[in-house]
Amino acid sequence: MTEPQDQAEWALATRAVRVGHTASNHGEQSEALYLTSSFVFRSAAEAAARFGGQQAGNIYSRFTNPTVQAFEARLAALEGGASCVATASGMAAILAVCLGLLKAGDHVVCSRSVFGTTTVLLGQYLPRFGVAVSFVPLADLAAWESAMQPNTQLLLVETPSNPLLELVDIAALAQVAHRHNACLVVDNCIATPCLQRPLALGADIVVHSATKYIDGQGRCLGGAVVGDAERVGKQVYGVIRTAGPSLSPFNAWVFLKGLETLPLRMREHSHNAQQLAEFLTTQPQVAQVYYPGLASHPQHALARTQQQGYGGIVSFVLRGGQAAAWAFIDALQLLSITANLGDAKTTVTHPATTTHGRLSDAQRDEAGIVPGLVRIAAGLEASVDILADVRLGLAAAQAHDRD
Ligand SMILES: *Cc1c(COP(=O)(O)O)cnc(C)c1O
Repeated sequence: MTEPQDQAEWALATRAVRVGHTASNHGEQSEALYLTSSFVFRSAAEAAARFGGQQAGNIYSRFTNPTVQAFEARLAALEGGASCVATASGMAAILAVCLGLLKAGDHVVCSRSVFGTTTVLLGQYLPRFGVAVSFVPLADLAAWESAMQPNTQLLLVETPSNPLLELVDIAALAQVAHRHNACLVVDNCIATPCLQRPLALGADIVVHSATKYIDGQGRCLGGAVVGDAERVGKQVYGVIRTAGPSLSPFNAWVFLKGLETLPLRMREHSHNAQQLAEFLTTQPQVAQVYYPGLASHPQHALARTQQQGYGGIVSFVLRGGQAAAWAFIDALQLLSITANLGDAKTTVTHPATTTHGRLSDAQRDEAGIVPGLVRIAAGLEASVDILADVRLGLAAAQAHDRD
């Protein structure tokens, strides 16, 4: 007799295409979109049994929806987690983790180099509800250790960070967290499960903004939390179904299809970013290039062991400061000037005056967001055309060079 295949044994690319698809009795090949807010019961007794929990099944799409569940199953399989809960945005995923796992009197330690809105959520909103938050430099394990308190419940990091592509050793940080009975949460939005699997390295929970690479074409907002059945499947899920930042089935369907090509796309994003980073290191207008795939990156060795690829984001500093950075951006004809990343279309931003514009000069300096910094999220156009556009930018920036 032939044993049924164990889906957990499938290679990543196979899981990305196949897991979570259960065809209805129509036998559709492509995943169905169940665009419905509620589900119908065959009798009053069935409705009562469904609501009472004696009978499994869908009730209302704030709680569960088959298309959303298919996306959750597929992402859980990619991250190697027992449970996945989808959310309306990446920020909703981070909020749900906080609401699900924290209470007044608790303490959180967060990397200084996280998404700007994450800093606002943790630094400004959580303290209103009696949760204290400390921020530490991402890569400094001693700083994490000394920030730990008896009431520390959560550690939150993004690695690699955006826009400066700094890393932390996830396995070592997980040990710090666990020695203090705390939970390590990794925002895996920039690497995606194709390039890095934090749970296998010892992290407890992964959060995602699906808005970025999982969608991959800049269409929908969404997010997800992946981890164990108790903390994610029960506590975080409880917040979502009660507070309501549930993922729309339409967006879940877009992400589900996005996951099918994610391994393929991440290879190409990484290839285009590597070409760009190597090109930039040879240009006289460029004072510094940040990309973990460069042998000159201070954490290149860690990136090589912790990640299966270096990702799509490249940042660099122009010698001519803000004037050069703006001249560079304004001379581009192909690249899109927009804050989003993880899109098929290559995007460019000037962090100091956009994503990090709310920070004081001192905070920006501390974070390394200098006026000459430019971030490019390499898309899926031909590398030769991306480089040709960047050459236009560099020529315009040259007029502002100073040493
Ligand atoms: C964009 C982003 C978020 C927030 O996600 P939204 O979907 O915009 O809410 C969180 N973390 C990282 C690393 C991001 O890039």
